[in-house]
Amino acid sequence: MTLSRRAFAQVLGAGAAAAALPFPRLVFAKTPTLSPVRLNANENPYGPSPAAIAAMRDALSLSSRYPDDEADALAADIAKLHGLSADEVLLGDGSSEILKLVAAAYTSPSRSVVIADPTFEAIGHYARATGAEVVKVPLDSSFAHDLGKMAPANVGVVYICNPNNPTASITPKAAMRAFLDTVPATTMVLVDEAYHHYATSSDYESVVPLVKSKPNLIVARTFSKIYGMAGLRAGYAVANRDVIKKLDAQKAWDSMNLMALVAARASLADSGFVAEGRRRNSATRAHVVESVGKMGYKVIPSDANFVMIDLRRDVKPVIAHMRSEGVRVGRLFPALPQHLRVTIGTPEEMQRFLEVMR
Ligand code: PLP
Repeated sequence: MTLSRRAFAQVLGAGAAAAALPFPRLVFAKTPTLSPVRLNANENPYGPSPAAIAAMRDALSLSSRYPDDEADALAADIAKLHGLSADEVLLGDGSSEILKLVAAAYTSPSRSVVIADPTFEAIGHYARATGAEVVKVPLDSSFAHDLGKMAPANVGVVYICNPNNPTASITPKAAMRAFLDTVPATTMVLVDEAYHHYATSSDYESVVPLVKSKPNLIVARTFSKIYGMAGLRAGYAVANRDVIKKLDAQKAWDSMNLMALVAARASLADSGFVAEGRRRNSATRAHVVESVGKMGYKVIPSDANFVMIDLRRDVKPVIAHMRSEGVRVGRLFPALPQHLRVTIGTPEEMQRFLEVMR
């Protein structure tokens, strides 16, 4: 359960009676208000696994220690999950750190990064800092990566976000495999699977199993989405061990903190948590797509915890109006200036969104 800043202020303002209560009980006893409804950052509205919260509580007193043992334990768990060895795993302070490390290690003024348009722009931002050119290739007509156009000469990194943010669309598995079979060995391919757990299309597959046979493949995953840990910062990469070594050389030691480590481990061990998160997301998403469809708007088929709605008008004033109504949506993606990205929240949050949308 989360507590918004506003709800927190209300709790604090509740007076002496509230002040007399033990703080943790006060925080967790109060259901946060809906306001503002945060549907703009593809966060998980249900919070982390209760097992993750318990693990963090248990680990608080260890905060004076460096978290090396916990990091080794998490890397071992992740390796086991994917049938890899621990030296084929690199932990990150969120998957954003992984994206930054890939840019630092493999892009330069003579080695560009190729990304889709629109996509999650972070790696372009990090690559620019190395002096690299950022080449944008528009998604194809079904909002998949146009992979045939994404590997020209002198490319350091091709970034493929699958499912793609902000379109929630997938790049079909056959196209991914064919691309990975033909891309030059000197070009690194970074597949960002932040939304992997939400994908339900039979045309989608993770490329993690290909890491063993593709030395130029890096896959990024995060605990920020289905595991509900965006505020804790936990992510990882899997890749060939030489690639992991090269990324690790750029990384700050112990960049993932103790709370994130123990929460991530507990989340992985919480069997059923992912399936329940996926089920809730799919059910609410289906209701939103149907309701928006009845209002006459098309939605790009979604394999993620957000949807992209074609408003057929400038999206900026709509985002601003919704914000004034306490519903945060968007942001603007310049390649699709008439599309509105909306995160799938709880049924109550989506009800509020639909009211304002109407
Ligand atoms: N990759 C994609 C595709 C994202 O959409 C996001 C965040 O929204 C990230 C990576 C960053 O996630 P993290 O919180 O793990 O840094």
